[in-house]
Amino acid sequence: MNVRLSGIGMTSQRTRQRMVDRLRSQGIRDEVVLAAMGSIPRHIFVDEALSSRAYEDTALPIGFGQTISNPSTVARMTEILRNGQDMGKVLEIGTGCGYQSAVLSKLSREVYTVERISPLLAKARKHLRETHCNNVRARHADGGIGIAEAAPFDGIIMTAASTHIPQALLQQLAVGGRLVMPIGTGEQQRLHLIERTPQEYLETVLEAVKFVPLLAGVV
Ligand code: SAH
Repeated sequence: MNVRLSGIGMTSQRTRQRMVDRLRSQGIRDEVVLAAMGSIPRHIFVDEALSSRAYEDTALPIGFGQTISNPSTVARMTEILRNGQDMGKVLEIGTGCGYQSAVLSKLSREVYTVERISPLLAKARKHLRETHCNNVRARHADGGIGIAEAAPFDGIIMTAASTHIPQALLQQLAVGGRLVMPIGTGEQQRLHLIERTPQEYLETVLEAVKFVPLLAGVV
């Protein structure tokens, strides 16, 4: 399927490069993030029927009522998280189809990702295997409490919207670490950046975004 599609250009390296050029024109400055996104075959992470739309700047359904974030949101959040530096250990909450995890895997030593929907996690694991993202550990759990035994994390990224910043995530952030997450509900969500300094947590409210809600418990 992918071979055939690349034959007609829908999922080719050239299509991916056009996505990267568009991200750059949309204001993404971190060339390391752009290179990572240029190297990952995003179409592998969506259902075959949607492959031809994988490089559009749009959110797409990934099953179970969830969506893969649009490329510009992935790029922007990753750029904020990375802040121009390679990362050590990173935690992602909301694995979904695994695309954001794959991007992080190119930019950090080790990625922990947590998903509450078991069959979705199984799909993500398959996608991550197929794209050789061997430094990603995917776990079936409620991510709202983080992963205490793997902490501290240099970066934490949440890809579902929460009404508040979970205390556990603040505790699991390394000094010098950064947490990026959407806060709010429905149409009223904004990205928040929390930086942990030796003395305190600094919070910056950034642009409006739209994510599915963070839900409690596992299914
Ligand atoms: N980063 C994903 C985006 C997935 S959408 C990607 O690249 O595809 C957000 C995901 O967060 C959904 O799969 C949803 O099931 C998951 N999620 C919501 N609440 C969660 C929780 N408490 N713990 C773990 N995952 C959660």
